[in-house]
Amino acid sequence: MKYRIILTAMMAGSLFAAKAQEKAKPEDTEIWEPIPKVVTPGAHLGDAPSDAIILFDGKNLDEWVTVSDGSPAKWDVADGLLTVNKANHSGNIETKRKFTNYQLHIEWKEPEGLEGTGQGRGNSGIFLASIGKGDAGYELQVLDPYNNKTYVNGMAGSLYKQAIPLANPGRKDNEWQVYDVIWTAPVFNADGSLKSPAYATVFFNGVLVENHFELKGPTQYIGKPSYDKAAFGPAPIKLQAHGDSSKPLSFRNIWVREL
Ligand code: MG
Repeated sequence: MKYRIILTAMMAGSLFAAKAQEKAKPEDTEIWEPIPKVVTPGAHLGDAPSDAIILFDGKNLDEWVTVSDGSPAKWDVADGLLTVNKANHSGNIETKRKFTNYQLHIEWKEPEGLEGTGQGRGNSGIFLASIGKGDAGYELQVLDPYNNKTYVNGMAGSLYKQAIPLANPGRKDNEWQVYDVIWTAPVFNADGSLKSPAYATVFFNGVLVENHFELKGPTQYIGKPSYDKAAFGPAPIKLQAHGDSSKPLSFRNIWVREL
C-alpha cells in the first residue's frame, strides 16, 4: 500500500514535469534587457576602446602622483614612454583616480642590456589596489621573465607570493610585454571583517596566467597575507620603483575600464 502511494506520487510528479516541459518555450530563457552598451574596439589589439579611461597615452603624467607625498609624479616621459626614475628617489607612483572593479591594460618593456639576477633583474610591479604608502597593496609582479630564475611565486605574472603563473609567455629584454587584468576588489563588512575576497584574472602577452585567483590578502614581502589590515573602498593603481640596481624599465599604453 505504502509503495503504491509513493509510486502514484512519483508518476504524478513526472507527469507534471512533462506537462511543464511541454509548455516551456525557448523564449522563456532568453534575456533581452538591460542591453550591454556598444563599445567600439580599438583598431589594433591593445588599443584603448571608446569607454576606457586613459592613464598614460605617451604624453604626460597628469593622471599620476608620487605616493609618498601626493606631489606630481616625477618619472620620466620621453618618446611616448614612461620610465621609472630611480635617480630622484621619488619612489612609487599611483593614479589620482580610485577604482573598485576594473579591466586594466598595461604594456612594459625591460631595457636592453639588463643586468642582475632573480628579483634584482628588472623588478617593478603593478599594485592592482594601492592601500597605503610604499608597497602596501596587491602586487602583480613585473620582472624580467626571460631566462631569469627566481621563486616562481615571485616571477613575472605572479600575484606576489600568492599565485604562481599558469605559464610563462614572457618575451626577451627590449621587447614589449602586455598585461591585461580583471580585478575584483575585496569587500568588507562595516566592522572590518571580510565579506568577499579580492580576485584577479591576468593575461600575459595574451596568455591566461592567473584564472580568477582568490587572494588571501594584500601581497606581503615577509610573512603570510591576511585581510586583517586591508583597506576599505576604491583604491588607486600603483607602479613600483623597486630598489634593485638594474636599469629602469618602461611602460606605455595604460588604460582602464571600470566595471
Ligand atoms: Mg616588484
